[in-house]
Amino acid sequence: MTYQPQQQYPPPQQYPAPQQYAAPPQQTTPIAQQPLPVKVAWGDSPTPMTCTNCNTQQTSVPTKKVGCMSWIIVGVVAFVLFDLVLWPCIPCAFLALLINGLKDTHHVCPNCNHVNGVKKMV
Ligand SMILES: [Zn+2]
Repeated sequence: MTYQPQQQYPPPQQYPAPQQYAAPPQQTTPIAQQPLPVKVAWGDSPTPMTCTNCNTQQTSVPTKKVGCMSWIIVGVVAFVLFDLVLWPCIPCAFLALLINGLKDTHHVCPNCNHVNGVKKMV
């Protein structure tokens, strides 16, 4: 009987290959990107825009608000009614405040409710 010494193989050593990634010189030329203030022609309908507050692309939500034009009409109508001695009817002049066509249109961002533009009647 021959003694067979148990051969012990050393576990294969794993040398971590020295990894040296020479990072390619990434030249990122800083582009001076200054967003030009885009002049939006505000109308009465929803308008695509970039919100100046939250900087996202949104479609504005037009909301009607009483503006100068409404009050001018109220004044004119009240003056005419006053002139015609229809004094009890003078409060009716304030109905002009309800006419949407006379109101300013505020374009509100649906994301942050920021008013981005106003279409004024006057
Ligand atoms: Zn916004």
